[in-house]
Amino acid sequence: MAEPILKVSNIETYYGPIMAIRGVSFDVPQGGIVTILGANGAGKTTVLKTICGVMDPQKGSVAFEGREIQRTDPDKVMRLGISHVPEGREVFPFLTVRENLRMGAYTRRDPDGVAQDMSTVFGYFPVLKERADQRAGSLSGGEQQMLAISRALMARPKVMLLDEPSLGLSPKLVLEIFDIVTRINRERGVTILLVEQNANMALKVADYGYVLEVGRIVMADTCARLMEKDDIKEFYLGIK
Ligand code: ATP
Repeated sequence: MAEPILKVSNIETYYGPIMAIRGVSFDVPQGGIVTILGANGAGKTTVLKTICGVMDPQKGSVAFEGREIQRTDPDKVMRLGISHVPEGREVFPFLTVRENLRMGAYTRRDPDGVAQDMSTVFGYFPVLKERADQRAGSLSGGEQQMLAISRALMARPKVMLLDEPSLGLSPKLVLEIFDIVTRINRERGVTILLVEQNANMALKVADYGYVLEVGRIVMADTCARLMEKDDIKEFYLGIK
């Protein structure tokens, strides 16, 4: 089997004395969509923060394209090709939509490519084009999520880490966002690691899923098989 683009091995991550991640391992294959599911507080966000360098694991490793990157600065991780879309969007509220998108491309030295990618994201989310010169803080929650994903895309990442993109959005918007995430994966070949509480939706778009419970992986299988198992759905994922 080909080497996974991202390989997380036995990481342990702490908040002070609190062990939030208790020896987590998983692989993300090149070009795939992998989801990490779990309840509030299970440790999903902490796993993403450990991969993108915002937090340092006390043990274990994170390998990207075969190279260990744990304890690397977030800025450097981003330059290597991993973009993080944090929970709660975190767009720059006082900058316009266009300025936010330019910030996403700040490491690039190919203005033609940047312009091309700007029109690609405007194609994915036409509302952002309409609002290009408005301050990001004036956008709705859904539009800010679209902007956060688009800004991450502007770095031309190889891997995108998405933290609960569906949080607080209407069912219609959730469908729209997931549809674009699937297109980003298929059309642009971006590998996706998706963290979600909305298991129903995540299992539909991802190929493979890991279930996290109190800092440990308790289940790992293809999404097709995870969806078939009623007890797992009810027990771990809250789907009836
Ligand atoms: P959520 O969906 O609420 O974001 P999550 O699965 O992403 O949940 P994490 O945010 O990764 O979970 O949190 C994992 C554990 O670490 C939880 O027990 C949480 O209380 C704890 N934790 C998270 N952030 C901190 C912090 N800044 N200080 C101390 N403990 C924290």
